[in-house]
Amino acid sequence: MKILVVNAGSSSLKYQLIDMATEKVLAKGGCERIGIDGSILTAKGNGKEKIYKKDMPSHKVAIQLVLAALQDGEIAVIKSMDEIDAVGHRVVASGEYFTKTTLVTPDVLKTLEEKTFELAPLHNPAAVTGLRACIEVMPKTPMALVFDTSFHATMPEKAYLYGINYDDYKKYGVRKYGFHGTSHKYVSGEAAKFLGKRPEELKIVTCHLGNGSSITAVDGGKCVDTTMGFTPLAGVLMGTRSGDIDASAVEFLAKKKGMSHSEAVNYLNKDCGVKGISGVSSDFRDLEKGVANGNDRCRLALEMFSYQTKKFVGAFAAAMGGLDCIVFTAGIGENTPCVRAGVCEGLEFLGVKINEKVNALRCEGIRDISAENSKVKVLIIPTNEELVIARETAELL
Ligand code: ADP
Repeated sequence: MKILVVNAGSSSLKYQLIDMATEKVLAKGGCERIGIDGSILTAKGNGKEKIYKKDMPSHKVAIQLVLAALQDGEIAVIKSMDEIDAVGHRVVASGEYFTKTTLVTPDVLKTLEEKTFELAPLHNPAAVTGLRACIEVMPKTPMALVFDTSFHATMPEKAYLYGINYDDYKKYGVRKYGFHGTSHKYVSGEAAKFLGKRPEELKIVTCHLGNGSSITAVDGGKCVDTTMGFTPLAGVLMGTRSGDIDASAVEFLAKKKGMSHSEAVNYLNKDCGVKGISGVSSDFRDLEKGVANGNDRCRLALEMFSYQTKKFVGAFAAAMGGLDCIVFTAGIGENTPCVRAGVCEGLEFLGVKINEKVNALRCEGIRDISAENSKVKVLIIPTNEELVIARETAELL
């Protein structure tokens, strides 16, 4: 069975074609600048790469080009579109309308468009544009929606509710939904495999630390709490997002800076986080360079990030009544030793101790960075969201 995984943004479309028998990526690539001048498709297959500089006025043209690239000359991995058994689409927000991976039907599409767009106005309309393009080009191929929020659907009410009027929660669906679910699901499952245990036996805190960062408590294989909220703005400070902030401070700031409510939210999403604190960059590689050059605000940004992440690890250990394993994943989690060290420092009382030397090594794949006498296993696990989307799509079929 071959599954095409599609992740559509407003002007981009990333894809992978995965053979489910081997879980091997047959082809991958992405279209950029869809609907803008200078659109480009970078396509890889058979270990080779080809670049197509072609006009892509719409996502429909983009997906047509992707399908042609999958069958093109030396990067061809299929002979016909019919070899693709299904398409799995990444969708950011589900609200309470969908709690698991869902096959697309006209009713599903209607709910997605009418109910979820306002929950993720930047992401869900783009995903549906990609989805509609695929339906048009591949009308007979089953389409599945795989939500970032699904893995968090097991959170208990006490964890996902905000302290607002309960009737308002019921009426408007304002609650914590969580994001990065496919990543948290993947790395917690891989951690159990690596440790030779069943997921039911483990209490794991997964730290997905990238441009967007979220931390999740996985108890017995199920999410019981997570740091992102109604939107991905909540939790720890991130590349450009503020993370948690007192709602009254937002009103105060908006008044002082002469911003409307939506301008203030945009500011918190785009101009804050480690970029705002450091005044240098949202990229952790730049922050590390800044620290090496004696920049105190870069040091502060890194300290805040590690400190806030550590606090959630502790909070989630308390929520689960124990901790067996911490997993680091995504760009920062996989590549930034000083953040991992900063998060684990001071958690010895929970039985967390890392091997500083192993932590500092730069290498690929799953790594156990815990010290020999650490009660809690500390692992680095490269995430693979596309594989989860493909697996969920295949399971649904
Ligand atoms: P996104 O949320 O966009 O998927 P990533 O998971 O790619 O984000 O994470 C991006 C962050 O990871 C950046 O802050 C970047 O500095 C950091 N990072 C550190 N080292 C690396 C590396 N070797 N490769 C990629 N990202 C890295």
